Amino acid sequence: MTTITTVDRLKNYIGGEWVDSNSINYETVFNPATGEAIAEVPLSSKEDVEKAVLAADKAFKTWSKTAVPRRARILFKYQQLLVENWDELAKLITIENGKSLSEAYGEVQRGIECVEFAAGAPTLMMGEQLPDIATGIESGMYRYPVGIVAGITPFNFPMMVPAWMFPLAIACGNSFILKPSERTPLLANRLVELFTEAGLPNGVLNIVHGAHDVVNGILEHEKIKAISFVGSQPVAEYVYKTGAANSKRVQALAGAKNHSIVLADANLDVATTQIISAAFGSAGERCMAAAVVAVEDSIADELVARIKKAADEIVIGNGLDEGVFLGPVIRDSHKDRTLGYIEKGIKEGALLIRDGRQDKEVDGEGYFVGPTIFDNVTVDMKIWQDEIFAPVLSIVRVKDLAEGIEVANASSFANGACLYTDSAADVRQFRETIDAGMLGINLGVPAPMAFFPFSGYKNSFYGDLHANGKDGVEFYTRKKMVTARYVK
Ligand code: NAD
Repeated sequence: MTTITTVDRLKNYIGGEWVDSNSINYETVFNPATGEAIAEVPLSSKEDVEKAVLAADKAFKTWSKTAVPRRARILFKYQQLLVENWDELAKLITIENGKSLSEAYGEVQRGIECVEFAAGAPTLMMGEQLPDIATGIESGMYRYPVGIVAGITPFNFPMMVPAWMFPLAIACGNSFILKPSERTPLLANRLVELFTEAGLPNGVLNIVHGAHDVVNGILEHEKIKAISFVGSQPVAEYVYKTGAANSKRVQALAGAKNHSIVLADANLDVATTQIISAAFGSAGERCMAAAVVAVEDSIADELVARIKKAADEIVIGNGLDEGVFLGPVIRDSHKDRTLGYIEKGIKEGALLIRDGRQDKEVDGEGYFVGPTIFDNVTVDMKIWQDEIFAPVLSIVRVKDLAEGIEVANASSFANGACLYTDSAADVRQFRETIDAGMLGINLGVPAPMAFFPFSGYKNSFYGDLHANGKDGVEFYTRKKMVTARYVK
């Protein structure tokens, strides 16, 4: 933490204005590919949250009563502006997060899709009626916004994850307070600028930058009715339990340790390409990353050799440079933690078949770790149990599908899982017995699109309604039932 610098000091966005935080504490934001300071983010206080709540509360009174098609029209305009500014948004993601530019383009697309889904608000907000629940009596359900909603987001998808939350919440008539990750705060400011340009009234979307003080301010504030959280497991559990204890709706999406099971009949070209992309894309910093491959013994040597060969060919570097596939991890401290896990894996007796510490970029200024692969991993090892969230892949050898599923289901997490096979019967067995919310068949990152729910179970999710899709609409609305008898 530092207080003196020549880089930009970010402001909060409250009630349609850029305002200084009243905190004196700032944290430096780094470009992880170069280690350069690119901004300073305020670690805002509970007083800043209070100001945002006042603005959001005032805006809610009008916004919640604004005709739904008018709200949708602003979202259509927003979608257009996001498309027009796609290049700039993608570049900003790469600069603050480190992922390659092509992945950043893909992330912007996923964000835009959320806005497109939310623009369907007139249909999504519809209720239901039954004209005759008893003789001469009808019943109908009406949907309303819940009030002020807050979103707390992680560093790894600076656009997509906030876009799961605020466009739909706002389309449903709520006002919103976003607390972006303090490690990737820049994109959020651009997102709110473009939404304002699209015609969003002041106070409907507010940004309060910071860390745990802001989160605690949100958790304690009586006027905030619902919280969408995405981040690591311990924080998700804390936010869910504290928010629920304070009578709020909470959906808290958490960490992961996703397994890919490769069966003997799998197309190994497809499996290799998909696993490489899912394990090492975005430097393994995806909640849908392939962290473990459980491969059938009979093809294990062949698959491992192919994955190792493909990993050797990966281009590491600054994500802004043409052809780079693997960028840095988010911070120096995260790099150190990852190197610690590599050391731990060796001590635990796993076979290190590709050592990402040896790649030349690891010695530079950026926070690079090369693709790392452990073979002969077992479920008693920490490298199998913990979410490492970095380009480190564990291979577990199994005798068949049933054992692969048993290994995957032994994890405390249950976010995503993939199966590589052409056998319909095996696909069915996998679908029916695997513990995971998002399944992929012969593809590596089965992230659902905006109109479907996104999330998992066990330690990967706390709450009831998942993000996005109809679940998102349920989460951001409350219902009134009207039962009526009309008397002549
Ligand atoms: P994080 O938990 O460190 O931070 C997430 C948010 O919580 C940030 O806004 C941060 O400021 C806040 N926060 C952090 N510590 C806090 C504390 N002690 N008290 C209150 N607030 C706190 O997560 P991260 O490192 O930014 O993101 C990576 C994690 O997010 C990984 O575990 C990943 O699996 C998870 N993730 C999950 C999903 C999903 O859909 N399940 C999606 C993306 C990321």
